Amino acid sequence: MTKTILPGQTIGIIGGGQLGRMMALAAKEAGFKIAVLDPGMDSPTGQVADIQIVAPFNDQHALEELAEVSDVITYEFENIDVDGLAKLSEIAYVPQGAELIRVTQDRIFEKQAISEAGVIVADYITASTFKELTEKSSKLPLPFVVKTARGGYDGKGQQTVTSIDELHLAETLFENGECVAEAFVTFTKEISVIIQRNVHGETAILPIGENIHKDHILHETIVPARIGKETFVQAQQAAEKIAAHLNMVGTLAVEMFVLENGSIIVNELAPRPHNSGHYSIEAANISQFHQHVRAVCGWPLRQPKLWSDAVMVNVLGEHVAPLTSKIAQFPNWSIHLYGKDEAKQKRKMGHVTILTEDLEATLSEIEASGIWPE
Ligand code: AMP
Repeated sequence: MTKTILPGQTIGIIGGGQLGRMMALAAKEAGFKIAVLDPGMDSPTGQVADIQIVAPFNDQHALEELAEVSDVITYEFENIDVDGLAKLSEIAYVPQGAELIRVTQDRIFEKQAISEAGVIVADYITASTFKELTEKSSKLPLPFVVKTARGGYDGKGQQTVTSIDELHLAETLFENGECVAEAFVTFTKEISVIIQRNVHGETAILPIGENIHKDHILHETIVPARIGKETFVQAQQAAEKIAAHLNMVGTLAVEMFVLENGSIIVNELAPRPHNSGHYSIEAANISQFHQHVRAVCGWPLRQPKLWSDAVMVNVLGEHVAPLTSKIAQFPNWSIHLYGKDEAKQKRKMGHVTILTEDLEATLSEIEASGIWPE
């Protein structure tokens, strides 16, 4: 059963981070009310929500409370307890269901689903123990990257192994359960395709962004990605195949590697708005957050159009003070800060979006600002 959720009704969001905050702000423009469940007092989403439920994500009473006040429930992160979410969908309207979360919170399920959709992932092996990895490792050419199947993010829970002598470096990863070892991909670029699908099966794809990471954390997204027409078509088709195979609702970010010959390999999926799509707030006719709200509320989707080329740069803890001291120097920058109190090193605190007619000049401006030293 699908429903159309209308302004004045309440959208419940599981997770109170910046993605929930930007989702909430978009929804509030159309007159929706927001309820949020997050263990933190004064979370980034809580600050802009109408109702805050402060409790752990697996607290059954808190989930029931969220169900009671919400006309539709969505989420802003993938590490939700799948059984809890499935149970919640028995007492509340959760159009995204629990299956997308079940698949994307485990790299092994995720790789299987991508392959079943007919899309290529890097060659991989799986191992439940370090001993099993040692036994199977000869089946995978070196170098390879060992990743925990569950719970890793921003390069955490990963170890690159370049020779068999280095294999022991991956041993501690097994403390967090099963792992996957995947071939190291020599890519020329990383891109992400954000596909959104509403409860009626209608899809929309945002302009493709090119992602530059520093220390495994997204640093910059350049839009549109500087890729050839064939890569562009392949990337869009891959995202469409995966979304259709998963029969998903909401937002799916498909992270991909582009190879020298222009073909693509999918790295991983995120079942929610994605850091690389933040540019769409200013640079497109529809932001990923507005579209996500439309998708889960049963509204028709808008076909995304890029108004302007853009660069998005992340603001981590160490960048906040230099950025805020230089606001006056950069009137063309759109500054987003997420209301987090502690500017910890490497913590995502905000981002900056710059619309541009001259990409090289904008990249030079970002570098010359001194806010993001190498
Ligand atoms: P992930 O957490 O899987 O998104 O990995 C974080 C980053 O590590 C990616 O964005 C890549 O820059 C790098 N990386 C991950 N897997 C591989 C791989 N198989 N080959 C080369 N680089 C990788």
